[in-house]
Amino acid sequence: MSQKLISSFINGEWVQSAGERLPVVNPATEETIAYVVEASAEETAKAIENANDTFLSGVWSGKTVKEKQEVFAKICELTLANIEELAQLECSNAGLPYAYLKNRQLPRIVRNFKFFSDYLSQNVERSGISDEEYLRFVVREPIGVVALISPWNAPLALASTKIAAALAFGNSCVVKTAEQTPLAVARFMEILVEAGVPAGVVNMVNGRGQVTGEALSTHPLVQGISFTGGTATGKHIASRATPFLKRVDLELGGKSANIIMDDADLDLAVKGSLSAIYTNNGQQCFAGSRILVQRNIADEFIARFVEGSKALPMGDPLAETTQLGPLANERHYANVKRIVEKAVADGAQLLCGGEKPENMQGQKGYYLAPTAFLVKDNAIEICQEEIFGPVVTIQVFDSYDEALEIANDSRYGLVCYLWTTNLDRMTKASLKIKAGVVLVNTTMILDSRFPFSGHKESGMGREGIEGFKHFYTEEKTVTIAIRNPDAGAK
Ligand code: NAD
Repeated sequence: MSQKLISSFINGEWVQSAGERLPVVNPATEETIAYVVEASAEETAKAIENANDTFLSGVWSGKTVKEKQEVFAKICELTLANIEELAQLECSNAGLPYAYLKNRQLPRIVRNFKFFSDYLSQNVERSGISDEEYLRFVVREPIGVVALISPWNAPLALASTKIAAALAFGNSCVVKTAEQTPLAVARFMEILVEAGVPAGVVNMVNGRGQVTGEALSTHPLVQGISFTGGTATGKHIASRATPFLKRVDLELGGKSANIIMDDADLDLAVKGSLSAIYTNNGQQCFAGSRILVQRNIADEFIARFVEGSKALPMGDPLAETTQLGPLANERHYANVKRIVEKAVADGAQLLCGGEKPENMQGQKGYYLAPTAFLVKDNAIEICQEEIFGPVVTIQVFDSYDEALEIANDSRYGLVCYLWTTNLDRMTKASLKIKAGVVLVNTTMILDSRFPFSGHKESGMGREGIEGFKHFYTEEKTVTIAIRNPDAGAK
């Protein structure tokens, strides 16, 4: 791929600007494949003002459901027509396996736009009569300009989910994905315009959080910030946005427990546990990164899990057979390796991995072999801090209550996995677990009809249709007097 510049996309065009150039690196080869031209505060303000102009003009916010549906159908069509290019861009930039992107992660874009298209045609607000005197109804309006800020672990899947929701409810937006991974999202901007989203309704700015992100999340015209990323960044954004009374949706980090009971279907539990930690190169907010296994099946489970970890095809993410690619960038790679080293110092027992795979030593790329530790103490750093890589801890427990206690012993509360065939245990987990999502005998199934978000420090606000509706719209109650013309004067 020839090197290219990714600048800001404002009013349907890539702008020429003189901002600082930040290298965009392929994590599998360590080569620079593009440069981000960082958007300054002034340039970011231009994107926001542009979005605001389009919002006020009604060019998108005033579209009928049918008109929006036609555009959404075209977005789906063009996404599918370009899915190989999008997957290739994402793969070369984020290091995610090409086959996984093409067949699983990116088709979600189509499912999302289709979901909102169907929803729009079937959802109406209710009206009511109060005290026989007033006809009341709620008008639901878009909120205006929204900032959509997302991370590098699933750049296009995450950004496009926010874009679909923002557009469905009639908003204009400014998108900022991570400065390390703009390529596929940038291409998607062009697809949106080609599909008929009017120029300026979706804009994109690129750059570091403390420059472009800060300018975006503190601009007075931005009415809401939908943020997916780290907990520390989320807290910072909330503290900066609150004085402006902006609404904030925060989808943050996780350290999810994965409990395997002695009555579990072990084949399913081993397969599910491998998938829960290693999918998306281990860089997923809902990774099952703390395995808790009951003592009487622990030896067998551990042996099979380690064998499965070692057998995972790791390598060039472009190869169709690869299931595990490199970590997304050099800084992240260094941090994951630091946590792995610290775990050994903290007394964790390395079961597999811990370094670049033997057959890749000397090769370029931020590769870390699937890594599992046996731990005894949930208080050590590797059990408490989100690692965001192919690294899992395994802890043995005796009783179910003990497992639930360890599972809840975390500042995070995104997801909890449970493998059991016992109905009482399923029921108890669904009541006792402090997490936004409890998954019993399954890995994550995203479904926009249901809420997805974290408890505790894993988030604030909800994705899923009800959460989207509340975040992306404003309610207005209209009261019309029916019988008594003077009622309004009360
Ligand atoms: P990050 O918080 O460092 O960055 C996320 C985004 O925020 C990037 O675009 C970044 O440039 C921007 N940003 C950084 N500082 C900012 C600031 N001061 N103002 C405005 N924007 C700023 O996160 P990351 O390291 O890129 O992503 C990994 C994290 O994302 C993990 O913690 C992971 O769990 C989380 N995540 C959560 C979910 C979820 O749905 N809960 C999904 C995916 C990832």
